[in-house]
Amino acid sequence: MESHTQAGAHLDVPMHVVHFLIGGLIVLAIAIPLLIHLKRRYQKAGTTTSKNLQNEKNRSDIIFNAIADGVVLLDTKGIIQAFNPAAATITGWTDKEAIGLDYRSVLTLTDAKGQEYADGQAPLAIALSQHREIKDNTAMLKLRSGKSLALSLIVSPLLDDKQQFLGAVAVFRDVTAERTEEKQRAEFISTASHEMRTPVAAIEGYLALALNDHVSQIDAKARSYLEKAHASTEHLGKLFQDLLTSARAEDGRLMNHPEVVEMGEFMEQLADSLRFAAEKKGLSVDFMIGASGDVTATGSKVVKPLYYTHVDPDRLREVITNLFDNAVKYTPSGKISLGLTGDREVAQVYVRDTGPGIPTDDIPHLFQKFYRVDSSATRTIGGTGLGLFICRKIVELYNGRIWVESEVGKGSTFYINLPRLESQQAESLRKQEAASQPIMGEIASLSAPGL
Ligand code: ADP
Repeated sequence: MESHTQAGAHLDVPMHVVHFLIGGLIVLAIAIPLLIHLKRRYQKAGTTTSKNLQNEKNRSDIIFNAIADGVVLLDTKGIIQAFNPAAATITGWTDKEAIGLDYRSVLTLTDAKGQEYADGQAPLAIALSQHREIKDNTAMLKLRSGKSLALSLIVSPLLDDKQQFLGAVAVFRDVTAERTEEKQRAEFISTASHEMRTPVAAIEGYLALALNDHVSQIDAKARSYLEKAHASTEHLGKLFQDLLTSARAEDGRLMNHPEVVEMGEFMEQLADSLRFAAEKKGLSVDFMIGASGDVTATGSKVVKPLYYTHVDPDRLREVITNLFDNAVKYTPSGKISLGLTGDREVAQVYVRDTGPGIPTDDIPHLFQKFYRVDSSATRTIGGTGLGLFICRKIVELYNGRIWVESEVGKGSTFYINLPRLESQQAESLRKQEAASQPIMGEIASLSAPGL
């Protein structure tokens, strides 16, 4: 025992502990280099990934595969060359199945009503044949299961440096949920405004009776209160009417019976009925058909060009009246010009005023719902901000375009372009319409009164 304690450095350690320590050292000897190796490998893998990202091909592959929108690459003949995973999820086709097929087998598109597009009118067909970008937010995709999805789609042509056409790329996403929500919202607005119009009309009627000298005797104070109430009720009635029209325009339920319209005659009648409101405000009105070069004089007769369009005259009257009413409303003094001109392709209507003009920043938003210019010249004048939105929706029904050119302090000109029919086309359409008139009459008498 003593020798043990004297030895000092000698420890009486049990053998299993010694074995344990030796084993631990061996494990450490193996594990540390392994960990260092793994760490290096990990770092190396990291640099490989960032190298991969720097490599152009890998980078585009990674983006192509990771992007949440469906992306489909087509060659000049419409054969699918690439199909990303999102396209596979949306369409239900795998890339292996889809690549090499004509796009029409995989992307079976219909319009918003589920009708197949006419020959060459599908968005992809237009991009492939006309080499231009097509945006479509109304298309539906028919799945193999028979179900349909609402799509938001952009097809862009692919052109090389020399503007040589290489094919097209379609980028799309499933917007079924958004569209259902939009539809529900529009339905709610449409029902609510329809229901509210009736009591508002009754209040307006009773206020009008109270203000009528032959019916009621009221003092000056009561009259001034009732006049204010009447003006506000009128505004409310207009707001509900506009809400109803815009909700119907959005969900495609706007009553619309297009027919062949000779724009010159139509505009002449309209100008006659509109000028009164402007002249009452002290504004002068002029109306002109054709640019000065278009009108030719033969002897004493003036030959004006005939501009035929295919539109619902009631709807078009609504649009032009709205533009004219705005011109009257926002122009304190000066002139309003109403005109019709055009070329082989389009009939163009314009409404020009000498009012306050519209700031450049506001112009891109002007045809959006509820947009009102916040300028001192127009802010105080009542309105709903729905008129121009409704105008755009109606003009778009006829594949037309509406826009404004304006200069602050000088005035604004609103333009409408509508596709022009050739005289022969107009004639044959008129014959077709006349032939289907009795049937249309019966349908109209069966349907509920619309807007
Ligand atoms: P509302 O006139 O009921 O407000 P609109 O949609 O018809 O709604 O017009 C939107 C806005 O555009 C108006 O609030 C007004 O600021 C501006 N605006 C429209 N027409 C004219 C015009 N002729 N001149 C100046 N501003 C105009």
